[in-house]
Amino acid sequence: MQETEAILNARREVEICNACRYCEGFCAVFPALELRREFSGGDLSYLANLCHNCRGCYYACQYSPPHEWGINIPRTMAEVRAESYEEYAWPPGAAKLFERNGVVVALAVAASIALVLIVAMAIGSPGAFFSARPMQPGAFYSVLPLLTMQIVGIASFGFALVALWMGARNFWKDAGPTEKVGVTALGIAAWDVLTLKNLGGNGNGCNDNSEAFSMRRRHLHHAMFYGFMLCFASTCSGFFFHAFLGWHAPYSLFSLPVVLGTVGGVLMTVGTVGLFVMKLTDDPLPNARRLLAGDVAMLLLLAMVAVTGLLLLAVRSTGAMPLTMAIHLGFVLALFVVLPYSKMVHGVYRSAALLRRAVERNMKPLGGE
Ligand code: SF4
Ligand code: SF4
Repeated sequence: MQETEAILNARREVEICNACRYCEGFCAVFPALELRREFSGGDLSYLANLCHNCRGCYYACQYSPPHEWGINIPRTMAEVRAESYEEYAWPPGAAKLFERNGVVVALAVAASIALVLIVAMAIGSPGAFFSARPMQPGAFYSVLPLLTMQIVGIASFGFALVALWMGARNFWKDAGPTEKVGVTALGIAAWDVLTLKNLGGNGNGCNDNSEAFSMRRRHLHHAMFYGFMLCFASTCSGFFFHAFLGWHAPYSLFSLPVVLGTVGGVLMTVGTVGLFVMKLTDDPLPNARRLLAGDVAMLLLLAMVAVTGLLLLAVRSTGAMPLTMAIHLGFVLALFVVLPYSKMVHGVYRSAALLRRAVERNMKPLGGE
């Protein structure tokens, strides 16, 4: 990481924390910083991505504003995190996409929807595009051929996976050498990721707006994450039905792809809308407000993927199906395109940071026995 103002401020704050240690039982960040005497840019990026922004340390800190030291770990870590997304972006020129990220996500959405609509209308006549189609196997593919969907979907999602992998690799290298990753560390990290342990605050939850604790943020994150995974499982099961059983969409309401997609879509909607409301109403002081536009744009994009997917299910036997399907696929394409260049990268870097923390767990803290 470059020596930016955010890095210099983070170093000043964590050095004070390392002397104070009042918050060492709050989360994984404090035990990890206590293992270090000096903090390189890579160390600070690691700590920043380990921070889950629960804000417990901000409300507990006797040196937070208006104290002259102005310790504000959640905001400082959020600023370093944002810089780490730019620093590790792949290909390197893509770092600029994290500046004015809300605008980038909005433009990607507009361009993707326009592209899908143009292609769908060019394939059939505009008149046919707005007419109802009988709900028989293959009805969706009369709007957009399956091969077109497969090529665009695999290419955009495949590129996103490569870019995310390269970013995670850059992050891991910058955090410095560490012990070999073993199966136990992988298991611990997977558990921490899947349970969002660090949003649990030792059973109390996060501080959303004040010193009062709540599990709301953790539950909403779970709804969004598991909703997304169920939608992904729905797509995979649909692919299995099509490719191996010869059963073509649309499927019945009680089929596996539809049940998984419906439950996943509802969970995603609840999680994203709930987190969106929290973003707009939570205490601004521990937040890095300049990141708000990108965070909100990503939440809205995820919400629209879920809502238009549910809407498509509701209107699939009407004349609104082709237009709804094209808009839904436009949102999905936009999601794939911006995946490595949006707030979504935080899941990858945070998981990598938790894995690193699991590897370090047996190291002795400074001043330890
Ligand atoms: S956040 Fe404040 S109270 Fe907590 S360890 Fe740092 S300086 Fe101490
Ligand atoms: S905001 Fe929460 S997760 Fe981040 S350092 Fe403070 S206590 Fe730990």
